[in-house]
Amino acid sequence: MTHINEDLFDRARTVIPGGVNSPVRAFGSVGGTPRFLVEARGPHVVDAEGREYVDLVASWGPAILGHAHPEVVAAVQAAAARGLSFGASTPSETELAEEIVGRLRAAGDSPLEKVRLVSTGTEATMTAIRLARGATGRDLLVKFAGHYHGHSDGLLAAAGSGLATLSLPGSAGVTEAVASQTLVVPYNDEAALEAVFAERSDQIAAIITEASPANMGVVPPDPGFNAFLVELAHRHGALVIIDEVLTGFRVDAAGYWGLSSRAGDVYQPDLFTFGKVVGGGMPLAALGGRAEIMDLLAPLGPVYQAGTLSGNPVAVAAGLTTLRLATDEVYERLDTAAHTLSTATSDALSAAGVAHVVQRAGNLFSFVFASEPARDYAAVQAQEGWRYPAFFHSMLDQGVSLPPSVYEAWFVTAAHDDAAVSRILEALPAAARAAAEA
Ligand code: PMP
Repeated sequence: MTHINEDLFDRARTVIPGGVNSPVRAFGSVGGTPRFLVEARGPHVVDAEGREYVDLVASWGPAILGHAHPEVVAAVQAAAARGLSFGASTPSETELAEEIVGRLRAAGDSPLEKVRLVSTGTEATMTAIRLARGATGRDLLVKFAGHYHGHSDGLLAAAGSGLATLSLPGSAGVTEAVASQTLVVPYNDEAALEAVFAERSDQIAAIITEASPANMGVVPPDPGFNAFLVELAHRHGALVIIDEVLTGFRVDAAGYWGLSSRAGDVYQPDLFTFGKVVGGGMPLAALGGRAEIMDLLAPLGPVYQAGTLSGNPVAVAAGLTTLRLATDEVYERLDTAAHTLSTATSDALSAAGVAHVVQRAGNLFSFVFASEPARDYAAVQAQEGWRYPAFFHSMLDQGVSLPPSVYEAWFVTAAHDDAAVSRILEALPAAARAAAEA
């Protein structure tokens, strides 16, 4: 029995807080030792002990084609050989912006006209909010409980993802003044949203919402909810930021907005944020929207934003190549794999007598251990979440790597072929029994 992961974790903890560079990696809510990964290829990751796992984390979303797709790696290598960073304009960053704009245009009447590239989803949402404030001259931001938009100060109130995993209501170090400018509203609650606008409408700069929440587990918007909030905001002179950092270019070629538009659920937000898939596994994210608003950014306008590594050529090569390879056929493969896995997991949980509901947003899915679907953060928190660690560890012991928290979506990739899916299916009955006995 080797203890390489334990030893690496001990060593990491002496020089890195909690041994991790992003909290949820520490296995805090599932217990046990995080696996230190040394390789990722196709549907698999390999840990420092040489164990291979079928992966359903996909680097939390970016690896839509599977890990280390040969053409993406080749494009990255070629870009790197031409120079790691120029701090100047490149032809390829325009191509990536065109690809993003073109994808949304192909899906419907798109308000996305201009794009700026940044390095992380956190930066994208932070900048979008600054833009919304700059455009409206108003201060307040409305966000929904359980939605995660990155770790900038004003967005940590009642956020999902790692904060949900750690049961933290917000973060120390955020000033009262900043926190008081974020109004948190329960999700999928039209009356609560209307009440906030009735009280503060002339002060609200924007509503920010995950296109479909997936950081408290997957909690899709009620049909028409996104259209409702856009209409309400616009009626009161406020903007809408649709955060597609997680869903963008994953659930559809044009993100959740594209999926909705194609289904006839049409809405016109003012700004979008993207991350994860758009960078193909490299640090790259984006914000975009109507030209009239985007042109308020420096150097044209008064809203400042900048980045030494913004539009980094190696990251752009990864993102552009990934998007070009993410064809309709890839999205069909993801949909099929997601359907097979979510159905089989649900069947296994039912066979073991575990109450649960599959929550879906296109090819993203997760489970709540409850008998009713969860429509908001309160419902998600009320589930029998304590069943998840046993389920998670049984899967891990059988060579399947799931997100180490019940509050995260499961991510399939186009590389999840029959062999990878079969390995997951074989592991499910024992994991479901472990959840039943927890
Ligand atoms: N918004 C959403 C919807 C996200 O899921 C995330 C990351 N999980 C972010 C923003 C922040 O992105 P990053 O981690 O790249 O800062």
